[in-house]
Amino acid sequence: MKPIVAGNWKMNKTVDEGVSFVNEVKNRILDKDSAEVIFCPPFTSLFSIANLLDNSPFYLGAQNVHHEIQGAYTGEVSIQMLKSLSVDYVILGHSERRTIFGESGEFVRDKINTVLNQGIKPILCIGEALDERRSGQTEKVLQKQLEQSLNGISGINGDNFLLAYEPIWAIGTGNTATEVQVAEAHAKIRSMVGNMLGKNGQNIPILYGGSVNVDNAGSLIDTNGVDGFLIGGASLDIESFCKIIELVTDNIKRG
Ligand code: PEP
Repeated sequence: MKPIVAGNWKMNKTVDEGVSFVNEVKNRILDKDSAEVIFCPPFTSLFSIANLLDNSPFYLGAQNVHHEIQGAYTGEVSIQMLKSLSVDYVILGHSERRTIFGESGEFVRDKINTVLNQGIKPILCIGEALDERRSGQTEKVLQKQLEQSLNGISGINGDNFLLAYEPIWAIGTGNTATEVQVAEAHAKIRSMVGNMLGKNGQNIPILYGGSVNVDNAGSLIDTNGVDGFLIGGASLDIESFCKIIELVTDNIKRG
């Protein structure tokens, strides 16, 4: 499986800024076969960036979607709207959506269902808060988030679904999880997914997210069970993002 580098821009970059950023990445990243690069800009930039990615080996992700197909949901965006822009992925269950916007596990589940049904790939984020880790509840929290998110959904497999382990305490804080913590969490998630989905769970990529930067990306991509990254802050900076893609690519070449 190709390693994945996904950049979650969150509420950053105007259309012009996003377009010039993606053009610059396209010019700089010459080895386009080694890693799967996914840009997740805000909704407002999806159309313009989709046009740039046509016939390129880069992919497009949205940061959210509503679970209903259409209707009176002021301010929301539907999966068919995203599909018409050739979006490949949708980030779901990000801790900012769960904590700031109050999205419940069931709500995330409904979104996953809608996204899968339309043939788009969810990137489901799960992760524990600092107090949960400190009180030894990491495993329980991850298990609960997975159960709530996947409950009653069939047909999930490694070709249509991605997971991202994102410890909340590591997001945007500079406190990256250690390689030991990451390896341990990824192994637990892998086994939980195996228990829930059997063979279908085996090849689901598990990304790590949480203060990935140019200094830690090389060792983190080398960590057992890490299939790639979901990157916030460092995906906004052209030097950092391209360097991380190169580090991931070099890692594959080293074998
Ligand atoms: C994120 O928000 O998904 C994330 C991983 O952010 P950062 O890389 O800035 O910690």
